[in-house]
Amino acid sequence: MKRRDFIKNTGMAGASLAATPSTLNFASLNSFSMMKNTPICVATWNFQNATKKAGEMLSRGINALDAVEEGVRVEEANLKNTTVGNGGAPDRDGHVTLDACIMSPEGNAGSVVYLKHIAHPVSVARKVMEETPHVMLAGEGALQFALENGFEKVNLLTEESEKEWKKWLQHKNYKPIINIENHDTIGMLCIDEKGDIAGACTTSGLSYKMNGRVGDSPIIGAGLFLDNEIGGAVATGMGEAVMKSVGSFLIVELMRQGKSPQEACETAVKRIVKQNPNYQDFQVAFVALNKNGEVGSYCLHQGFSYALYQNRETSNNLSKFYI
Ligand code: ASP
Repeated sequence: MKRRDFIKNTGMAGASLAATPSTLNFASLNSFSMMKNTPICVATWNFQNATKKAGEMLSRGINALDAVEEGVRVEEANLKNTTVGNGGAPDRDGHVTLDACIMSPEGNAGSVVYLKHIAHPVSVARKVMEETPHVMLAGEGALQFALENGFEKVNLLTEESEKEWKKWLQHKNYKPIINIENHDTIGMLCIDEKGDIAGACTTSGLSYKMNGRVGDSPIIGAGLFLDNEIGGAVATGMGEAVMKSVGSFLIVELMRQGKSPQEACETAVKRIVKQNPNYQDFQVAFVALNKNGEVGSYCLHQGFSYALYQNRETSNNLSKFYI
């Protein structure tokens, strides 16, 4: 089947539920688990293998945190995906460095940045969250922690990525490509049968970034944020712009004030447009999900889509866009 056959209109997502977060009350939260369209899993880009994995776990009654971790691990393991996990493109000096974070419904968070040699950074982030007094570990310390906790040391630079990097070295022109469908950061949000929300975000960052560069994806509030009373948001694209606007946190706060996930994503992108005179030159995209199961998405440049698992079906959904 062609990709377009999977594409649904964003307006369809969660259309059966009209209430906004501001109309939620304690009684409606309690009845959340009775909603017919739960569980739900949504992810940046057309990562339907990942949303299917997480969604099927949720449908079997597995909790949102376990499902979201397993879901994004699908892309971390995918060697063909050159911007997440194993097989990710290196920085300009040839190092593959990974960034990831995870948040639980209780509002706990764990993160790893500039992590080398470990194929599943999201699982290391979860261990940071659950087994240390900290939220974020970086570089050597993150690697040491991962190795001490039984993660295997592997070579993340595939032959293919090395070949592409060597080609890049010939011109050294640093210009992130605006849309690489299916080949970008995965940010995922899951709502389980109880109505609890968890989220994760994992990436190898921008290809040929400077050595030491960390983007938005592992930064709580930028690449990912959630509040189990309200909903969550995830980001992909130019991390510098997302960090400067604390985009995912902004979206959750806008939903708290009564905006729909769609309206909140649009406000966040428009703020980035206002902050960055060069906004034509890069992509940013957000996906948000609220406690009612409504999904919204907005991006700067046309071409971004998100994967959705709902009513036991997966689909790819074109995002609305600014330009
Ligand atoms: N947001 C990621 C970063 O800046 C990259 C991406 O999503 O394309 O590291």
